[in-house]
Amino acid sequence: MLNLENHNRSRHLEITPSNDPWDPIVSLREYGRHVLTSVEMTVTNLCNMRCEHCAVGDSLVMKEPDMIPLKVMLDALDRVEHLRTISITGGEPTFRKQTVDEVIVPLLQYAKARGIRSQINSNLTLDYERYEKLLPYLDVMHISFNYTSERDFHEVGFARSGHAVNPDVAYRMYHKMIENAARLSEAGMFISAESMINYRTHAKLPEIHRLILEMGCRRHEVHPMYAADFAEGLPVLPLADMRRAIHSLLDARDPEVWMLFGTLPFFACNGNAEDAELLRRLRREPNVTVRNDPDGRNRVNVNMFTGDVYVTDFAAIPAFGNVMDTGLDAIFDDWLNNHPLNQKVNCHCDAAGCCGPNLLVADMYYKDIDFKSRKAITL
Ligand code: SF4
Repeated sequence: MLNLENHNRSRHLEITPSNDPWDPIVSLREYGRHVLTSVEMTVTNLCNMRCEHCAVGDSLVMKEPDMIPLKVMLDALDRVEHLRTISITGGEPTFRKQTVDEVIVPLLQYAKARGIRSQINSNLTLDYERYEKLLPYLDVMHISFNYTSERDFHEVGFARSGHAVNPDVAYRMYHKMIENAARLSEAGMFISAESMINYRTHAKLPEIHRLILEMGCRRHEVHPMYAADFAEGLPVLPLADMRRAIHSLLDARDPEVWMLFGTLPFFACNGNAEDAELLRRLRREPNVTVRNDPDGRNRVNVNMFTGDVYVTDFAAIPAFGNVMDTGLDAIFDDWLNNHPLNQKVNCHCDAAGCCGPNLLVADMYYKDIDFKSRKAITL
């Protein structure tokens, strides 16, 4: 029997720019060290799309095995002492109705009963009824939106299909996604639309932003694309173009709408003037936040088919344990205290609100930099 009451230390604060429970710096400040507050669960490797940049593209399948029993997962969550958020991911988590009814809804009900926050990653291209079922429980519906037209969607969303996809099919899915997002927003769902900064989008972020607002989304998330998984062979954007893209978006955006930047490759300990100027601007803009990366800081991912537990999304570190035989807190502590890769990047400059770079970012742009010997200059 799950002991929900003992764990019911809810933070019923609304999710706003000043309350982002996914940011690892919140628990770092509260406990004086990193603790596991966030568990992501992969509930499917099926998807109706094959995006060019998919961060889990190599795991996608056409058919999948049985899952571990839901009770094992719920018991594992129940034992995470400081759990504050869960995220549900795929593939497209709603691909099978059965997954929605038998896995996703029960996980969301658990989260709500325990007073923790929930997020799901979806492409929103399936029937409205699948998403409507989540409305009573879900805190954040997270979607990807990198398009200015149905043609963009067709080109990007099926680039890795391995066969030609009829444009009309793709166009219908694009309009379904927009219609679903607008309808769910209207019904009160908090939709956070994420755009990547990459070689395709960097010059058209203001137009993408405008379309996201038209759908009624409550937050626009912006993350640079990194060369992982399907994105591995795509062109890497120079840092100067990335800075320019962010400034152009800040110039054009609606300041009433929350913009969340994440996984940025700009740090307060960098000496150059352009980075300092951008970081200062991000700090003073209204309704703009920069989230520290949860990867390896306050989050683990559980594969619900094997029970394997991963500590980072991006960096290709193999499973660090299994939920069938080890507690998630123990797995996370082992990573935190003993893994040499974590020791490379676990710096913290509180005045700058920074707790270090993502491993992949450090590897891509700062190969020879020892972050542990640096300190924030730009405050
Ligand atoms: S926490 Fe690390 S990355 Fe961030 S400013 Fe300090 S030294 Fe740089």
